[in-house]
Amino acid sequence: MRSLLVKNAHTIVTCDDFDSVFTNADLYAEDGVIVHVGATRTHAIPQDADTVIDATDQIIYPGLVNAHHHMCQTFTRNLPQMQNLELFHWLTSLYEYWENLDAEVMYYASLVAMGELIKSGCTTCFDHNYAFPCGGKGFLEAEFNAASQLGERVALARGSMSLSRKNGGLPPESLVQTTEEILEDSRRCVEQFHDPSRFSMRQVVIAPCAPFNVTADLMKESAALARSLNVRLHTHLAETIDEERYALEHVGMRPLAYMKSLGWLGEDVWFAHGIHFNDDELDLLADTGTGVVHCPISNMKLSSGIARITEMIQLGIPVGLGVDGSSSNDGSNLLEEMRVGYLLHRLKESDHAPTGYDMLRIATRGGAKVLGRNDIGRLEAGCAADFFMIDMKRIETVGALADPMALLATVGYRGAVDRTVVAGTTIMEHGRLCGIDEEEVAHKANDCWRRFLKKHE
Ligand SMILES: [Zn+2]
Repeated sequence: MRSLLVKNAHTIVTCDDFDSVFTNADLYAEDGVIVHVGATRTHAIPQDADTVIDATDQIIYPGLVNAHHHMCQTFTRNLPQMQNLELFHWLTSLYEYWENLDAEVMYYASLVAMGELIKSGCTTCFDHNYAFPCGGKGFLEAEFNAASQLGERVALARGSMSLSRKNGGLPPESLVQTTEEILEDSRRCVEQFHDPSRFSMRQVVIAPCAPFNVTADLMKESAALARSLNVRLHTHLAETIDEERYALEHVGMRPLAYMKSLGWLGEDVWFAHGIHFNDDELDLLADTGTGVVHCPISNMKLSSGIARITEMIQLGIPVGLGVDGSSSNDGSNLLEEMRVGYLLHRLKESDHAPTGYDMLRIATRGGAKVLGRNDIGRLEAGCAADFFMIDMKRIETVGALADPMALLATVGYRGAVDRTVVAGTTIMEHGRLCGIDEEEVAHKANDCWRRFLKKHE
């Protein structure tokens, strides 16, 4: 048994069912699972453990859950020619780069993306890779390796594209596979990597890319396979008006009606973006328990629009937060995402907008919910000991303690958090990742990135 005691915290924001906030509090965990959390004097918390962390002057938050990413895009970020494009043009320009993805690129891009996420308090990450050139040999293996080296909890997509340009889709022939190839490899990935148990560190999601690059047949078959293997389903939906036009033109339906016709609604499904839903479609999402992951920075960068998050929360639609791919962000910082999302909705909706604490709930419990998990996203007995800490002695937080629940979205927090813990183990401390030599990885990753870009010349 491995025990952890975090003692004398200034504040613990739990995001539990009662929105409990404890001051002068302790957290005690055994084997990565919280046993007690609460005020120091009122709980019978053991005062010793294998690992003891002094949390004096620290605020503790539940680890953030990133519910949508494309980590490989870290190697195609900040390309000057991509900076002023909207989704369809942006995608068709980037496909030419993604044709050259390989397992080494996936590994280093994942290390870099998750490294930045961990520094911004993210303890669980879902990655949606859908580009598998030449079958994408070793891609999921590389991503899982990077995650276990860093200590991050992950869910990884076996994504896919099957509708190429010549058949009316967007991607080139080099990036699509047949339905049979995709389903066979999807099954292999689930059987090889997916751990369904509580506190699982690695899960697999079946995630065709989007209606404009996946055939109806693959969408239907993917849903059937996911349900037979008891894993979750994910895709991009209602991201742009271009997509809406495409769906009306090609299948004669709006995107959500099309997904409904393919069996893609339910509590085991969540969509990325979900910007262009009308009132009836929001009701349908609520009635079926279908989730949405909000990616405000990407939506602003690609001029896609503003998702109706306020209404989604009011209707009880499960909503998570995601940074989306590093090429439309152009980074992997979930704390920044929270603040930008908060400000975006303030601008749009004034006093109806989500509060700072609402944004924290979306980024923690909301993300856990869309990933189908009730063991992460909150700090309470029986949940994973996944959390991060912020030192209140920093001048950036002076005068901001009036509302610790809202602080991360209202005031914001720039730079690395002070400690990130996953399953009771510290994976980032004093701004440095524990699992890797950052200078060495940065050097090797930049070499790999140069080689990758050279292939495109
Ligand atoms: Zn995306």
